[in-house]
Amino acid sequence: MRIDVTELRRGIGREATYEFREAVQPVEMAGETVTFEPAQVTARLVNAGDSIGGYFEVSSGAHMLCSRCLKPVLVPIDMEFMVVYQQAPATPGKDDGLEHEVVLYTENRIDVSDDVRQHLVLELPMKPVCGPSCKGLCLRCGKDLNEGDCDCPKTDENPGMSVLKDLLKRE
Ligand SMILES: [Zn+2]
Ligand SMILES: [Zn+2]
Repeated sequence: MRIDVTELRRGIGREATYEFREAVQPVEMAGETVTFEPAQVTARLVNAGDSIGGYFEVSSGAHMLCSRCLKPVLVPIDMEFMVVYQQAPATPGKDDGLEHEVVLYTENRIDVSDDVRQHLVLELPMKPVCGPSCKGLCLRCGKDLNEGDCDCPKTDENPGMSVLKDLLKRE
């Protein structure tokens, strides 16, 4: 979504709110492709003089895999964030002292789509789960333990630990 801020820039304190829904490009994360539900965005832009403040409310959902049982999960994402937009200088300076949060725009048009996507990506959980009680897969045979127990020997330890124990016993 590209927003024309010509009107907004006519006076300090002017503001405008935009509501829209837009597709979000997938992202590659740890070898997994995460796709998003279309994002519902409310963007309030405020002319703050030398910059434009963008206040965002975004709702979407990320299609990921449960980190325990590898089943697809839809992780809901509802978030708010703020971005400061500044008009790009006509002649780019060497060091303009701008903070990283500041996004430059040109020709009175602010493209908010990248900011929405970047913040959605930041919001993704490192280890999504299909549910708090997900039992995951058996580390020995790979069976989904949510569907029932497997025939592997009952132990609370993972195989790596018992191998280690065997080694210690031998000494
Ligand atoms: Zn799971
Ligand atoms: Zn098993």
